[in-house]
Amino acid sequence: MAAGWRGAEPPVERMVGEIEAEAALVGRLTGRRPLRPAVLAALRTVPREAFVPEAVRDRAWDNGPLPIGQGQTISQPYIVALMVDLLELAPDARVLEVGAGSGYQAAVLAQLAREVYAIELEPVLAERARATLDRLGISSIHLRCGDGRVGWPEAAPFDGIVVSAAAEDVPPALLAQLKPGAHLAIPIGTFDGPQVLTRYTRAADGSVQGEPILDVAFVPLRKTR
Ligand code: SAH
Repeated sequence: MAAGWRGAEPPVERMVGEIEAEAALVGRLTGRRPLRPAVLAALRTVPREAFVPEAVRDRAWDNGPLPIGQGQTISQPYIVALMVDLLELAPDARVLEVGAGSGYQAAVLAQLAREVYAIELEPVLAERARATLDRLGISSIHLRCGDGRVGWPEAAPFDGIVVSAAAEDVPPALLAQLKPGAHLAIPIGTFDGPQVLTRYTRAADGSVQGEPILDVAFVPLRKTR
């Protein structure tokens, strides 16, 4: 055995190491601070392999996006970490995710917030996400199948909102469901054009400010009407 050999690193630690390295690189380029330790702890807790189809399970712990069926993807783990970090959630927060896909990011949010409201447009994905979350015993996520551009009015306002698909403009209903002091993270741009992950913040006086964070590539937030 070579000196200093400490055995194979568990895949989740390799993934978190790659996320931290990418966060450090982005930090050097943009001045962004490191990811919060609570966010990294949440990524360590959620078994990403449970959320991806069997055909790509051997890549579940790679720091990259993966296909989840219906032409959709589970986001790159670093981007999940960044989006969740941007919300600056308190442990008693109630948070909304639009574009729940596999349910992975909702499960990460559930580690950091009291209640998660997640909306997915594709019935097949919504059903699969519900089954995965049930199997893992994650009960603080309310999952609904439908168009998330209208938000979840009965549960609003939220302490944080994350949209996991790209839109040309932030849907007004979502901004309206954001509490004062809360953040909304969304990729803004066209499907095959440039997209910028943007964080909107509602100030105490009710006004909203947007702040560009990072260039990204997301599937489109689809319009149903
Ligand atoms: N966060 C997900 C990945 C999101 S991929 C995960 O962790 O797996 C983006 C998802 O947004 C896709 O599943 C897509 O079906 C969904 N989507 C697209 N338009 C939508 C809309 N208008 N309302 C709700 N979900 C939508």
